[in-house]
Amino acid sequence: MPDYKLLTPGPLTTSATVKQAMLTDHCTWDDDYKHITQDIRAALLRLGEVAEPNYTAVLMQGSGSFAVEAVISSTLTPQHQALVLINGAYGERIAAMLARADVPHIRYDETYNRTFCKTAIHTHLNEHPNISHIIMVHCETTTGILNDIAAVGEIAAEYGKIFIVDAMSSFGGIAIPIADWHIDFLISSANKCIQGVPGFAFVLAKTARLQETQGRARTLSLDLFDQWQAMQKDGKWRFTSPTHTVLAFAQALCELEQEGGVNGRYLRYLQNNCLLREKLAALGVHAYIDHLRQSPFITTFLFPDNPAFCFADMYQYVKQRGYALYPGKLTDADTFRIGNIGEIFESDIEKVCQAIGDYLASIQQ
Ligand SMILES: *Cc1c(COP(=O)(O)O)cnc(C)c1O
Repeated sequence: MPDYKLLTPGPLTTSATVKQAMLTDHCTWDDDYKHITQDIRAALLRLGEVAEPNYTAVLMQGSGSFAVEAVISSTLTPQHQALVLINGAYGERIAAMLARADVPHIRYDETYNRTFCKTAIHTHLNEHPNISHIIMVHCETTTGILNDIAAVGEIAAEYGKIFIVDAMSSFGGIAIPIADWHIDFLISSANKCIQGVPGFAFVLAKTARLQETQGRARTLSLDLFDQWQAMQKDGKWRFTSPTHTVLAFAQALCELEQEGGVNGRYLRYLQNNCLLREKLAALGVHAYIDHLRQSPFITTFLFPDNPAFCFADMYQYVKQRGYALYPGKLTDADTFRIGNIGEIFESDIEKVCQAIGDYLASIQQ
C-alpha cells in the first residue's frame, strides 16, 4: 500500500471507516440494500435543500462524466439548442458531449481565470431565442475557479430556460440550494466532496423536468428517465449496481453529517485552502485564480520563478514525504494543482507546505 495522502480532486483520501464499509458483499435485490439506496437518495436531496416529490435523485453507475452524458443525451435532442458556458476543460467536455449527441449549441467562452459576465449571457439569450437549456460547471476543477451558478440560475428562470449544472467537485462541500438557484438538473459524484470512493454518480432533478424527458434518451444504459423509473419503484438499480461503492457512500454520508453537514465541511475546506494559499505565497508560489473567485476545493499554482524548478522532481520529493500532488491542466501557463478535499486536515497542509518549502530550498543555489 502506498503510504501517501491524495491531494487530488477525486478520487481522494477517504477515511478508514469509509474503506471498511466495503468489506461486505451485499445482495442487490435484498430489501436492506434497496433501503440503503433509498436512504442515500433522500440524503442527497437534503444536502441540496430539496425533497420529494418536487425534486428527485437518480444514481447512475460510472464516473461523473457518465452522469453528465446521461443528462445531456437524455434531456437534449437535435431539436433543442443549448447555451454552454465554458471556462475550463470540464465545460469543454460538456460541449464535446453536445456535439457527439448532435445537439445544436452556442458557446460562451471565457478566459480560464475569469467568470462569466451576466450582460454577455443576456446578449446570447437575446440573439438566440431558440436556446432551450443553459449548461455550466460550478467549480471548474481545471483551475479551481468557482462560477456563480446562483446568478446564472436567476437569468435562466427569467428567460424560462432549463438549467443544468455540473457541480461535480463542489456538491456537499458548499451550500447549493437547488430550488432557490433554479437548478433543474444538478450532477455530482461519489468520490468528490462527499468523500466516498469512485463507482457511481448522481443527478438531482426537478421531478416535473425529468418527467418531460420520457422516451427522449438516445442510449439505453444512460437513459436517465428509465434509470429513475426503475429506482423509484423500490430502490433496486436498473443494472448491476456498484455495491461496495454504495456501502462506502452511505458511510461517507454519515461522516458528512457528523462533521456538521455541508457547512461544517465547507469550513474545514475553506480554512485549509486559505492556509495552503497563504503558506505557499510566503514561499513565492502564487495561486492562478484571484482569491475572490477561488473555490475552497482545489487550487492552481503558478510555477515559482526559479529556472531550477521541476514539477516532476517536486512531485517525487513531496510524495516521499507523504503527499501526492496533481499536475496542471493549462496550456498558456506552467502550473500545478493541489486539491484539499478528502480526509485532509490542518496538519496535512502544514506538512505538505513544509515539504514544498524544503524542496524549493534544495534547488536554491
Ligand atoms: C471530476 C469532475 C467530473 C467528472 O470526471 P470523471 O473523471 O468522469 O469522474 C466532471 N466535472 C467536474 C467539474 C469534475 O471535477
